[in-house]
Amino acid sequence: MSLYLKYRPINFNNLVGQDHAVTTLRNALKHKSLTHAYIFSGPRGTGKTSLARIVAKALNCLNPIDESEPCNECAICDSINKGRLVDMIEIDAASNRGIDEIRELRDKIVFAPSQAKTKVYIIDEVHMMTKDAFNALLKTLEEPPSHAYFILATTEVHKIPETIISRCQQFNFKRITQSDIVKRLQYIAEQENVTADDESLNLIAKISNGGLRDAIGLFEQMIIDGSIAFDKVAENLGLGGTIHVEKFFQNLLQRKPLKAIEILNQINAQGKSLEQFISDVISYLREQMLINLSDSNEIKIIIGFIEIFSDAKMKISQSIIPQLPLEIGVIKACNFGTEEVIELSEEKTEKPKITKEVKKEEIAEKVQIAQDKLENALSESKSFPDVSLDEVKNNWQRIVDNIETPFVRMSFLDGEPVKYEDGVLHLNFKSSTYMDKIANTSNQAVVQKAFETVLGSKIGLKLEVKKVSLNTVDTKVEDNKDSSVIEMAQEVFGGKNN
Ligand SMILES: [Zn+2]
Repeated sequence: MSLYLKYRPINFNNLVGQDHAVTTLRNALKHKSLTHAYIFSGPRGTGKTSLARIVAKALNCLNPIDESEPCNECAICDSINKGRLVDMIEIDAASNRGIDEIRELRDKIVFAPSQAKTKVYIIDEVHMMTKDAFNALLKTLEEPPSHAYFILATTEVHKIPETIISRCQQFNFKRITQSDIVKRLQYIAEQENVTADDESLNLIAKISNGGLRDAIGLFEQMIIDGSIAFDKVAENLGLGGTIHVEKFFQNLLQRKPLKAIEILNQINAQGKSLEQFISDVISYLREQMLINLSDSNEIKIIIGFIEIFSDAKMKISQSIIPQLPLEIGVIKACNFGTEEVIELSEEKTEKPKITKEVKKEEIAEKVQIAQDKLENALSESKSFPDVSLDEVKNNWQRIVDNIETPFVRMSFLDGEPVKYEDGVLHLNFKSSTYMDKIANTSNQAVVQKAFETVLGSKIGLKLEVKKVSLNTVDTKVEDNKDSSVIEMAQEVFGGKNN
């Protein structure tokens, strides 16, 4: 016997998730005020036909508990549980759509029940009936004999004629909540001695979308050697990929690079294609992008991720270690758009610290290289042009005018001479963009030519962005912009050597 049949609710008390219908029906039974026709509508597997049978039992039970709950022990309850009671007539409209069944029903309904107190007609999937059958049914519903009750069950109530609906009391069955399904599955697992973790049960509940019958069916299929394991469940449901992709994305958002890399390792260890996985990640990100179009903050992050992993994917085939470009992608994604991502993260304090340390080291290294370069350049300069800062300042306009290339000239104008020392002119720039232009080798040549024309010799240049200097590395690091490394210090050397 399937677990679904075995654990089918046999009384009101163990029917899950339809409290409204249960309460109303029990009250009507107590007060002997049950209507003769009901429509139970709602998604599949939510307990419609189970409840219909419970009502049939409650109507006919020889020893009802509390005047409403079937005892499940008397001869009538027993016959109904075994599907043998001739006075409970179940019609599956999906396979008996024709008028003949309804005509037969109409002809026999007038006869008194043979065993029980009442006759109960349960018509499942009633929306499948033909128009003629509905018309015949309508005539019966207009004047039902006092011993006859109808329960019409349907997943598509909108297909039932209004004339029928208006003669019935309707209960709308809700999808059963995930937690109610999990509770029921936990109960069944206990009864059956099956070990199952909550993650698996939640996944099964989620997949069955509020239908307990499907959930129990899935649960049964997933039992292997007396237990249910999450990986197997995900795998069997064809969700292995999706779940990994979702987890991967969540880890990136939460800035957990190690956990994201762990997922890559798992996929690799399972012998699956990382390239396929990252394609799945990109399609998933695309979906997320389209879903979150209205959230500019989220979109920025998602597009950033898409760019990072599209780039990483192209590099897989060229990499000696195929996993490496993806690992780099993970780290980039976890550092992406620091300020915005932090808001989404639960690890606000943890992550930026790491970023800061990495960047600090990186910057310190670059600064060291720059300083070394400067020292080398200075030691190589045999003599410095014999000028003062004032002299440079006084001649500034002439120097600028002598820069032949217009955009180099414009960029140079952003800089301000602040110091002249040991043959090196210190220039402060407001913008790193302009500074970068001047740092470019061919543009340097254009600038040096102007110095030579005006001052009689080339000159050492040290370029800096105004608010940032080598002394303030520690405080500036917190801003964490990628370009800050470049902004830190940059030297351009001319000098009079050779
Ligand atoms: Zn009974």
